[in-house]
Amino acid sequence: MAKRPIVIYGDPVLREVTQTVDEINQEVKDLVYDMTDTLKKAKGLGLAASQVGVARRLFIIDLSAVDINESLKVFINPEILETSGEIEMEEGCLSFPELYLKLTRPERVRVRAVDTEGNRFEMIAEGVAARAVLHEFDHTQGKLFIDLLTPLARTMIKGRLRKLAAVS
Ligand SMILES: [Zn+2]
Repeated sequence: MAKRPIVIYGDPVLREVTQTVDEINQEVKDLVYDMTDTLKKAKGLGLAASQVGVARRLFIIDLSAVDINESLKVFINPEILETSGEIEMEEGCLSFPELYLKLTRPERVRVRAVDTEGNRFEMIAEGVAARAVLHEFDHTQGKLFIDLLTPLARTMIKGRLRKLAAVS
């Protein structure tokens, strides 16, 4: 496993709508291994492939830091089937170092994806897990958490965003 550099806001790859994974070959497995290593070292909860510069439709989530019963989960070609509820929560993104935003998103989500063995699975996530799934899913669509801000709130962090984009 090798750590890959995390792409920071300003890099156009973060705005790409990612490509479906047609085959879970060695290249895809290596990508998942590397992303796992990268996520653990960055101590994040989730990481999408586009955040390491690869515009493929997959992400990983590791909630073991907040819940010892959790383990790393891989979501290949994820689809959001259903959402319900609404909750405000603070969230961060590894592509936006030190930026934390209070955002409203659905409280629960039903998601379908494929794992690294090629098995299709469905999962119902709530709370932090739902938040992580929705955040990472957005990355696969080229969407970022700042897109959920109101125009006014976005104006207020304009300077910070410009600084991030300048170093990327
Ligand atoms: Zn993110």
